[in-house]
Amino acid sequence: MKPLRLAIAGLTACSGCQLSLLNCEQELPQMLERIEFHFFPMACSPAILEGEYDATLVEGCLSMPHELDLLLALRQHSRYLIAVGTCAAWGGVAALRNGENREELRQSVYGSSTATSGSFSPQPLHAMVAVDAFICGCPPEKEELLNLIGDLLRGALPSPISHPVCSDCQMRENLCLLTERSALCLGPLTLGGCGARCPSLEVPCEGCRGPVPEANLSEALELYLQKGYDHAAVLGRLRRFCPEWKS
Ligand code: SF4
Ligand code: SF4
Repeated sequence: MKPLRLAIAGLTACSGCQLSLLNCEQELPQMLERIEFHFFPMACSPAILEGEYDATLVEGCLSMPHELDLLLALRQHSRYLIAVGTCAAWGGVAALRNGENREELRQSVYGSSTATSGSFSPQPLHAMVAVDAFICGCPPEKEELLNLIGDLLRGALPSPISHPVCSDCQMRENLCLLTERSALCLGPLTLGGCGARCPSLEVPCEGCRGPVPEANLSEALELYLQKGYDHAAVLGRLRRFCPEWKS
């Protein structure tokens, strides 16, 4: 069987998603028997784009012209292009100020310096290219990354997750922080798959995995209102990881 030809690229991000993959130390030796990394600048040198890739995993959002050039080249040479992590899927923390005046923000940080010349408002990958699959999380769960590699080895894409964090919470028989403690927990609107990592430690969900498909925002906002949170507070929290949430 031919090895899987993989490319892994990092755009505007903290590198945490790529590190999560590199941290699979026990599984990596076995993976490397069936995978060839042909472009993985964070881990392998030289990093040269050449040939065709069975799949490309991209971490991070787009905020610089050279990142867009790289993404377009990777898209052109990859059978599958997969957004890995909430920055790639939704913009993530780099995009959390997208609703504010960009020039004022730039001046408040860099003054008259031209350090940011050419940069633009951070965008998720799907704003610029077709994306075949999304693995959300900040960073994604290790099991999701390993399952993704397993799916790609079979020539398949991962099945999309469609349940909210609340379902994970119920599976773990957690006390509901929203209904029982009136905490601002974003679990009803957030994509599940993390095993309710935070509510299981009695910490409200911050929405780091982005929106669950078909999230019922208006119904959830009513519930938050009953608990004493106004719409602006809830939307402000939601937009920390996904600026695309509309009021
Ligand atoms: S604690 Fe949060 S995630 Fe868990 S059930 Fe309640 S609202 Fe949902
Ligand atoms: S509970 Fe919410 S904030 Fe915590 S890891 Fe899961 S999605 Fe992210």
